[in-house]
Amino acid sequence: MRLVLLGPPGSGKGTLGNMFAQSKNIPHLSTGDMLRKEMAGKTLLGEKIAPIVNAGKLIPDGLMIDVLKHRLAQKDCAGGFVLDGFPRTTAQGVALDTMLSQLRMELDAVLLFNVSKKEIVRRLSGRRVCIQCGKIYTVDYAKGVCEKCGGRLGVREDDKPEVVEKRLEVYERQTEPLIGYYREKDVILEINGEQPPEKVLKDVLAILK
Ligand code: AMP
Repeated sequence: MRLVLLGPPGSGKGTLGNMFAQSKNIPHLSTGDMLRKEMAGKTLLGEKIAPIVNAGKLIPDGLMIDVLKHRLAQKDCAGGFVLDGFPRTTAQGVALDTMLSQLRMELDAVLLFNVSKKEIVRRLSGRRVCIQCGKIYTVDYAKGVCEKCGGRLGVREDDKPEVVEKRLEVYERQTEPLIGYYREKDVILEINGEQPPEKVLKDVLAILK
């Protein structure tokens, strides 16, 4: 199964991507997680991209396409993958088509997560993430440490209110045109993202049958 998850920040792509990938035993390719790992490790790439990510803007297409090309060519993607956070611009969508055709692969579906702006702002302002492994929690998760790896939970720099506004604006301007791009290819399946994660997963599994 080869899937693209499309939707605004905070629409549940990360949570669903993780659950779905585990259930199918395929990799969950989150470009946001890949970039945050580089930033946490203070690599050359991480240092270069940190100011862009922390301001809620997009990494240049060329750089992002290179990162993904490298990742998709790895062995564990041969049996399928869940792409979360890529493509984010039409240029990235076109590049993904080229990469897949070179690998003789095709997308099975693009899942479009529908969530209202009000709900997104509510979720992002309450979101906590494990600074070690990236697992996502809601603010009312009381333990303060990650149940998966024991890492400390914190607020993502780009989940701060002023940056959230910017990310939503970037989504509308740069990412939403991809909806039209994929509608033309007739691969979009719409998902109600305003439901508990288990129900979203159930809907996704049903719609992909
Ligand atoms: P996410 O975790 O998917 O919300 O991504 C966090 C941030 O990483 C975004 O706000 C961008 O700064 C950057 N990013 C992730 N994926 C991409 C992409 N495909 N193109 C450009 N920037 C990206």
